[in-house]
Amino acid sequence: MTDTQTPAETTAAPVYTVPQERRIVTAIPGPKSQALHERRAAVVSAGVSSALPVYIERASGAVLVDVDGNQFLDFGAGIGVTTIGHTEENVVRAAASQLQDVIHTLFTITPYEEYVRVAELLAEHTPGTHAKRTVLVNSGAEAVENGVKIARKFTGRRAVAVLDHAYHGRTNLTMAMNFKAHPYATGFGPFAGDVYHAPNSYPYRDGLSGADAAARTISYLEKAVGASDLACLVVEPIQGEGGFIVPAEGFLTTLQTWCTEHGVVMIADEIQSGMARTGTWFASEHFGWIPDLVLSAKGIAGGLPLAGVTGRAEIMDAAHAGGLGGTFGGNPVACAAAVAVFESIEANDLLGEAARIEATLTAGLERLRARYDLIGDIRGIGAMIAIELVQPGTRDTTKAPNAEAVTALVAYAAQHGVLLLNAGTFGNVLRFLPSLAVTDALIDDALRVLDDGFAALG
Ligand SMILES: *Cc1c(COP(=O)(O)O)cnc(C)c1O
Repeated sequence: MTDTQTPAETTAAPVYTVPQERRIVTAIPGPKSQALHERRAAVVSAGVSSALPVYIERASGAVLVDVDGNQFLDFGAGIGVTTIGHTEENVVRAAASQLQDVIHTLFTITPYEEYVRVAELLAEHTPGTHAKRTVLVNSGAEAVENGVKIARKFTGRRAVAVLDHAYHGRTNLTMAMNFKAHPYATGFGPFAGDVYHAPNSYPYRDGLSGADAAARTISYLEKAVGASDLACLVVEPIQGEGGFIVPAEGFLTTLQTWCTEHGVVMIADEIQSGMARTGTWFASEHFGWIPDLVLSAKGIAGGLPLAGVTGRAEIMDAAHAGGLGGTFGGNPVACAAAVAVFESIEANDLLGEAARIEATLTAGLERLRARYDLIGDIRGIGAMIAIELVQPGTRDTTKAPNAEAVTALVAYAAQHGVLLLNAGTFGNVLRFLPSLAVTDALIDDALRVLDDGFAALG
C-alpha cells in the first residue's frame, strides 16, 4: 500500500464501469464492426488477423463491450495481459497521474524512480532470495532476446536450447525458438541459428514421470549440443500457446540441477504464466523451481506494454554498461501501471482469486467431461486452465487430436457472448485465460454456453 491510499480504498469492492454480464444485441459481428472491418482491410496488413472481428469500444473487469453494444465475457484477457481486470481502477489512476508528471525521458539518458521501483518489486516477488537485477523492455519477445543475450555474455557460449511445444515470440530469434512454424515463421526466414529443440514433459501424451522426461531432455541436449557449448535453456513452467502443458513433478527442478552443474543458465519464460495468474506470483513456485533468470511481460502492467528480465545479479551484471537498453524500455507510464498491478494483487488477494477460479472452472469442466467423451484432458493451474479435445471414442486409446471441435466451440461461444481462445500444437486445446476479476457466476454462465456448444456439435 502506498501512503496515498487509505485502507478503505484498498478493501472496497472493485468498481466496474460496465455491468459484469454477457449481452448479445446484434448478429456477431454487428453492423458497426462489419463497417470497421471493411475500413481495416483497406489499410491494415493482411498479415495481422483477428480471432473475433468485433471492434471493442470499452472494457471493464471481465467484460468487453463492442461498438454495437454487445458484451462479451472475456476468457482471453488479451492473451493473459489484463490479469487483474480490464481498466482496473488502481492502474488507471496510477497511469493517468504519471501521464501528468512525465511520459518519457529514456532511462538510459535521465532515469526516474518508477523503473527502480518495478525492479525492486520484481526482485522481491520472483522466486529465490538471492541478489537480483532487472532490465525492463517493451515486449515478451524482447525479454526473451535479452535473456539470451545476457546468458551468452555471462557464459561465453553460443547455443540456445528450448523445448518442444514452446512459444517465445515473433522476432527473428524467437521465431527460431518456437516449436510451431505455422503461422509464426512460415516464409519469414532465414532464422537465427544455434537453437536446439529438446523434448518436453507432456504427461497426457508421453506418460513419463518428471525424472524420466528430464532424463530424455538432458540426453538429447548432451548429444545434440553438449553442455559446454550451451549458454541457456529457456522453458515456460506451464507452456502457454502449446496448450497449458503442465510438466510432470520434478521435471523442471531436475533440469535446473543439471544446468547448474554444467554452467548453463536456465531461464523461466513466465511471460504468460507469471504475475499472479496461477495463484502464486510466478508459476515456477508450484514446482519448487528457482530459475536463474525470469522473464515477465503480458500481465505485468495491467495492459500497458512492459516486460523484464530479472535474475541472479552475477549473470545480469555480466552485461557491460550500455549493452542493454532501448528507447521505450521501462517507460514511466508503463512502470507506474506495473507498480499499481503489484499493489492491487496484494491488496485484493488476487492470488486467492486465482485459486478460486481454478476450483470453479475445473469442477465445471469435470462435469462436462463426464458427459462429453471429446474432452480428453483437463489441466492447468489457477486462472490458466485448458481442455484438450480428442476424436470421439479415442479418449482412452490414440487420443487423436480434434481441432475441428475446438474451432466449432470457439465460434459457438463467440456467437453467444463468450470469448474463448484455442491453443496447442495441434489446435485441439481450448484455453480459459480469464482475468482474476471473473466471478464464479460468470464462470458458470460461460460453462453453460460451452455445454450448449458441446450439445450443438451433435
Ligand atoms: C506471448 C508470449 C511471448 C511473446 O510476448 P510478446 O509480448 O508477444 O512479444 C513469449 N513467451 C510466452 C510464453 C508468451 O506467452
